[in-house]
Amino acid sequence: MPNTERNHLLHIFSCCPKCGSGRFAVDTEKSKRCEDCGFVYFMNPSASTVAVIIDEENRLMVVRRSKEPAKGTLDLPGGFCDCHETGEEGVRREVMEETGLEVTEARYLFSLPNMYRYSGLDIPTLDLFFLCKVKETKGATAMDDAGEVLWLPWQDVKPADFGLKSISLGVARLLELHAVSLANAR
Ligand SMILES: [Zn+2]
Repeated sequence: MPNTERNHLLHIFSCCPKCGSGRFAVDTEKSKRCEDCGFVYFMNPSASTVAVIIDEENRLMVVRRSKEPAKGTLDLPGGFCDCHETGEEGVRREVMEETGLEVTEARYLFSLPNMYRYSGLDIPTLDLFFLCKVKETKGATAMDDAGEVLWLPWQDVKPADFGLKSISLGVARLLELHAVSLANAR
C-alpha cells in the first residue's frame, strides 16, 4: 500500500505535536516529519501483557470484555505496560486490577503483534504472553476492563470466542502447547 496520508499509521495526527504546524507529512511507512521544525514522530508497537492462569482443576481463567474494542467477547487478563515497567510487573499489576488475584510468578511464553483500535487510532501492540502462578485462584472478582471472570476447562476453550485477534491466535497456540504437554505427560 502506498504511504498516503489516508492509510498511514499516523493519519489522525494532522499537526506537528512539537510546534503545531499543519505541515506534518508522511516520512516513512511508520513515521511523519514536520516540514517546519524537523520533528520526526515514529509509530512503534506498544508493549502489552497477557496472563495465562490455570487453576488446580486445570481450567483456564478467562474474562469477558466489558469495554470496546470487542466488548462482550472473551479475553485473557492483561493490558498495556506502563513506562519503566517490566512485562512481569505489568502482567502482575493488570491481573490484580482486573481480577484481584496476586501473581507470584510470571514466566514468558511467546509474543504476538496486534492492532488495537482506540479513540479512532489503530495502535500497534506487541502482546507478551506470560504463564502466571497466583497465590490463590479462589476469590477472583471481575473489575476494571473485565466484566466477568470464568474458569474454562480446556475442551471449552475456543479461539473464535476471543474477540481480539492476537488473543484468539494466542489461545490457539496455548491449545497446541497444552495438547503437546498432555501428550508428553502420558
Ligand atoms: Zn513542527
